Amino acid sequence: MTDQIPHEATMPLDGPLVDTYGRVADDLRISVTDRCNFRCTYCMPAEGLAWLPKHEILTFEELTRVLGIFVRLGVRSLKVTGGEPLVRADLPVLIRLFREAGPDLDISLTTNGVLLDRLAGPLAEAGVDRATISCDSLLRHRFEEMTRRDALDKVLAGMRAAEAAGLTPIKINCVVIGGTNDDEVVDFARWSRETGYEVRFIEYMPLDAQHAWEREKVVPAARILAAIDAVHPLLPEGHANEPATTFRFADGAPGRIGVIASVTEPFCDTCNRLRLTAEGMFRNCLFAMGETDLRAPMRGGASDDDLALLIRQGLWSKWSGHRINHPDFVQPARSMSMIGG
Ligand code: SF4
Repeated sequence: MTDQIPHEATMPLDGPLVDTYGRVADDLRISVTDRCNFRCTYCMPAEGLAWLPKHEILTFEELTRVLGIFVRLGVRSLKVTGGEPLVRADLPVLIRLFREAGPDLDISLTTNGVLLDRLAGPLAEAGVDRATISCDSLLRHRFEEMTRRDALDKVLAGMRAAEAAGLTPIKINCVVIGGTNDDEVVDFARWSRETGYEVRFIEYMPLDAQHAWEREKVVPAARILAAIDAVHPLLPEGHANEPATTFRFADGAPGRIGVIASVTEPFCDTCNRLRLTAEGMFRNCLFAMGETDLRAPMRGGASDDDLALLIRQGLWSKWSGHRINHPDFVQPARSMSMIGG
């Protein structure tokens, strides 16, 4: 990481979005809803959360306007997230507006997949390029234990529908929790070889609404890779400017393995990510302790230039990276479902 530029240094008012560490931010995640139809144990309690009232959620017009401003500021890729984005009514209509606001944007979607069998086609038509689907177990009973939904078959059908709709390459996000599903990593690798999907193993992060995260349950990426490599030898592919480090199978089999080692091998040095919550808060980091309200000024008559300046200032205050491994670490009040990954 480059040395930090003093905060009081002159923040650039044009050109790409940068922070005081010289990182250029061009990858935006937009949460289009805080609601979800799953109850993953590492994310929220069984009863769910107090959902935001409708009037607090950004409208399609507001979301599209803000996206347009980010595109003007150099954003090149957009990941549509939630909660569960597919529970937002008329999502294909919103995607079409996003596509108009960013004709050259790389638009992907992160979803739990349970509604994908019905919506993959319309979303692809509307302008989504790729889908990342969460799946933490290939065992029906364990899937139900982890998500509190007996929905594995529907999710697998959703993956096939996404593939048929051309939302490829299909990427699978699997959160690995020690003592829960870490015994499945080799099975997931075998499945990746059979399906050709890229399975990314995500280290368990302190972003749950219950604040019940336990460091002992973090399975280091290195251990996951070693377990797979012992059975299906892997070759590194590198770490494009995205969270996952990917590997291919040495014997040339289809499929890919990725690891997102946020806890044991943080990648904040090359972070290019920006986040917008469903109610219009701009976050410069997944673990940020503060955020910039774009909704109030937007509804208060602010111009696009005003909002662009707020975004620049919000990024200029970005820290070097999360502090999970520091004694002073404080888990953000906002849980993953309220941020959108
Ligand atoms: S923790 Fe924050 S700084 Fe680090 S990679 Fe994630 S979003 Fe970027």
